[in-house]
Amino acid sequence: MSTEIDGVRQEVSTGSLPGWDRVEELVRDAHARYRDRDEGLVADYIPVLAEADPALFGVVVAETSGALHAAGDADAGFSIQSISKAFVYALACEALGHEVVRDRVGVNNTGLAFNSVIAVELNDGHPMNPMVNAGALATTALLPGATPEEQWAHLVAGLGRFAGRDLGVDDAVYASEAATNQRNRAIARLLESYGRIEADPLAVVDVYTRQCALRVDARDLAVMGATLADGGVNPVTGERVVAAQVCRDALAVLASTGMYERSGEWLFEIGLPAKSGVSGGIVAVAPGKGAIGTFSPRIDPAGNSVRGRLATAHLSRTLGLNLFASAAHVAERAEAPA
Ligand code: GLU
Repeated sequence: MSTEIDGVRQEVSTGSLPGWDRVEELVRDAHARYRDRDEGLVADYIPVLAEADPALFGVVVAETSGALHAAGDADAGFSIQSISKAFVYALACEALGHEVVRDRVGVNNTGLAFNSVIAVELNDGHPMNPMVNAGALATTALLPGATPEEQWAHLVAGLGRFAGRDLGVDDAVYASEAATNQRNRAIARLLESYGRIEADPLAVVDVYTRQCALRVDARDLAVMGATLADGGVNPVTGERVVAAQVCRDALAVLASTGMYERSGEWLFEIGLPAKSGVSGGIVAVAPGKGAIGTFSPRIDPAGNSVRGRLATAHLSRTLGLNLFASAAHVAERAEAPA
């Protein structure tokens, strides 16, 4: 694709996916290949998440053409959890501009757990990046709206546009997290003490807790990711959700910080910007081509779904998605138990 900007013609080169039949075959293969793997544990730090059925496993690829390929439990619903952070960040960048969000929230990895309080203290109250809880709370606080209700309305409408359908809150997950999220409340108060949140910190935590409880399935994740891959246009509905530059910003942040403390390892093995959540979802984005959405509740110690990672790694290799690869490769560690 070429565009003239400031009198200079600029090219963007992303390649293309194999044909429809081949993608369909590879998605089924990725599901069948890892269906019986049972490493990892279902998250239980939000009590109700422990009730998830560990057998569920869905794999979906959404192409930027709008084509969808699904295998397994593609329609099984789950709470989006931390994956929401990627899309709320995009909404904040769209509303406020890249520079404001960059100054207020940052783009660098903390090297510490997603819900670390120490990371905030070590960085003079700077949240560091929008994929850790401190940065996600600061990002949610920036959303347009005079009240938390207006901010929530903006958020839920925006994430629905990414998914191409209205999303609803899983009330049981919301209630369970709201009763046990003392740490997030502490992080929000800490940000307030450093002047990083101007709104009522507990109201911000409440909106954030709702955003994490939004119910999606693997198909939604794939379409949401494909919207980022498609320069901000939802390839299924045709609606522009955010600007192309916002997608580039969001994907750069995901590449360095999207997969908890395993973000470097993920990029090394799989070579795609991605975001995961503790309920077992992963979305991985191949710019210009499409996205992979997976769901499998058993997660590794860092919080990443084990089968989701295996399936994504396989599809990245077989579909030729690794951003750093110039030739076919064997990712030696990708098959290892997490
Ligand atoms: N709602 C969870 C929290 O804020 C998100 C956990 C996650 O998926 O990383 O702690």
